[in-house]
Amino acid sequence: MEQMEPGLDPEDWDAYRAVAHQLLDRCIDQLAAAADHPWRAVPPDIRQGYALSGAGAGEAATAERITRDILPYGTGNTHPGFFGWVHGTGLASGILSEMAAATINANSGGRDHGAIYLERAVIDWAKGIFGFPAQASGLLLAGTSQATVVALAVARTKVLGQSVRAQGHGEHRLTAYAGAGVHNAARKAMELLGIGSHNLRLVPDGAQGIDMARLEAAIAEDRADGAVPFAIIGTAGSVDLGRFDALNALADLAAREAIWLHIDGAFGAWTRLADAPWRALSDGIERADSLACDFHKWMYVPYDCGMVLIRDEADHRAAFASRPAYLAGQEAGLGGGEPWYCDYGIDLSRGNRALKVWTAIETYGEARLGAAISANCRLAQYMADRVADAPLMQLMAPVISNLCVFTANAGLPATAQSRLNTRIAQQLQMDGVAVFSTTVIDGVTCLRAAITNHRTRQADVARAIDGVREAAVAG
Ligand SMILES: *Cc1c(COP(=O)(O)O)cnc(C)c1O
Repeated sequence: MEQMEPGLDPEDWDAYRAVAHQLLDRCIDQLAAAADHPWRAVPPDIRQGYALSGAGAGEAATAERITRDILPYGTGNTHPGFFGWVHGTGLASGILSEMAAATINANSGGRDHGAIYLERAVIDWAKGIFGFPAQASGLLLAGTSQATVVALAVARTKVLGQSVRAQGHGEHRLTAYAGAGVHNAARKAMELLGIGSHNLRLVPDGAQGIDMARLEAAIAEDRADGAVPFAIIGTAGSVDLGRFDALNALADLAAREAIWLHIDGAFGAWTRLADAPWRALSDGIERADSLACDFHKWMYVPYDCGMVLIRDEADHRAAFASRPAYLAGQEAGLGGGEPWYCDYGIDLSRGNRALKVWTAIETYGEARLGAAISANCRLAQYMADRVADAPLMQLMAPVISNLCVFTANAGLPATAQSRLNTRIAQQLQMDGVAVFSTTVIDGVTCLRAAITNHRTRQADVARAIDGVREAAVAG
């Protein structure tokens, strides 16, 4: 029968319920057996099968496709031998929160509803963890890359005033400063904001992070040259080596020079939850004017979720608030709920990222999350010990937190080492043994493990290092 008002809900909710329960079971089965599910390349026929016919197959057939053709072909970052790049590993709590989030389908741009209060709760919790003051504000967003854009936009508005929003930079040449190991996200943010990545000064590292004397000299030089230094970007956990700038020293200098201090703590900020000695790495983070970090890396929350915190809500609002008439707030009703998150960032429509973060913290608590972070640091040291025990391998940088960088055969010339390490990384990925990524130290492409994986045990690390040794010999 032709329906006059054809909605999209299931025609038979009982049948839908059976399909959904079955898929949920498959999801739980897969996560419970995460060790059996390393990364696997998507076979060409399956990949081609993703092409949409547009015909509409219904819930049951589509759920079957998800089970057969989609669930097996993830990034593999739920596997205990995954140490590549800096990937979070997901949480069982995420299955629950994502299901509830899809049911509610909240738009968290603003208004008066549950997701808004959850996000406030998450931001308030984070303010406490990072020692930010009561008047600080924050926003959940896709990740640290977006958080950096938002933070630097606030810093720019602070130094040039709100007129920059209408008039742009005019004659002003803004400059920012960061250590040489700063993440590419800072460069991208400078480009996007129209400041230009040339105006991000990269200061060489000293004994601990940025060389402070050279930083001070660079600022003085730019000021003498008529530039407007507007932000110092400190790094808490560099992506290559897990290095931490001396955040208190940076905060002292930023205060003396009256320059905004932004900290990229994408993963390293969470050493705040770890035991000694790792916790001390992020001492001083509470003095930042803005902080960017990720829940999807070292808090293990499912992708994607990052956060920006701004020390003073008034600065945050000054850079972003602007609402046309159709979005005007109300005193009561759904149009209430001030402040609205659309006044703190780029997006108007936003999903319910807060729920998966809230659920994770409510489920596991600070102590268990912190214990997982400390355990990851111990495992990085354990990996370094295994490397030191292996005859040909060599550690290429000290282990500071959760990163271990090494070469499989230090006896070879640099180019041969690079070739070998690159080949080993690929082979172990293809074999489903372990996922290392690579980075270049002193001209040598090295194997790099970033352990942000709560499923990793000593045996997984030992197996991965054995795999490297065997692959090196086989080559
Ligand atoms: C991952 C990372 C970023 C970028 O964060 P995304 O969440 O991927 O956007 C920035 N800085 C550091 C140190 C990182 O590790």
